[in-house]
Amino acid sequence: MPSVETLRSAIRDVADFPKPGIVFKDITPILGNGRLFQDSISLLCDTANGAKIDKVVGIDARGFIFAAAVADRLGAGFVPVRKQGKLPWNTRGLSYTLEYGESVVEIHEDAVHPGEKVLLVDDLLATGGTAAAAIQLLDGLEAELVSVSFLIELGFLKGREKLGSHRIESILNYE
Ligand code: AMP
Repeated sequence: MPSVETLRSAIRDVADFPKPGIVFKDITPILGNGRLFQDSISLLCDTANGAKIDKVVGIDARGFIFAAAVADRLGAGFVPVRKQGKLPWNTRGLSYTLEYGESVVEIHEDAVHPGEKVLLVDDLLATGGTAAAAIQLLDGLEAELVSVSFLIELGFLKGREKLGSHRIESILNYE
């Protein structure tokens, strides 16, 4: 049985990265440990609640690592949501507000078909802006969003309040 507390103790807090005032949750100690990486993927797979998932959508860039492994484990496809200008084919894009300024995320217009069951995965939920934009892209493609799943949730930032009525799951919550 994967231990959530073992995962929690492996996460490294890095103060003032990438800028002053931010405590960055470094997940590389989990990635670098075969057992912990496997456990994190098992726990994220559980958030599908046994649903038959067609596509696992990962958010640029750390979300890709977890989403691709979850997709492989569930026998589902993997779909990237990327920062602007990285995807080669026709895209749908959405701009969203960051702490300072704006950013744009994009998805290929044919990456998810109407009614497909989707698990959206990212490493961390902070203010919720990134995930909210990804959800809007998936809503636009008429995906059936089974769960929006994070390894880490910074609960004190109340990001989940931006994510509407979708099911939101996180493995490790920091209140
Ligand atoms: P947000 O849009 O504010 O929810 O930010 C979420 C995105 O930013 C995720 O893709 C995370 O990888 C990254 N992120 C935000 N805050 C942190 C943090 N404190 N530690 C690590 N990653 C973070």
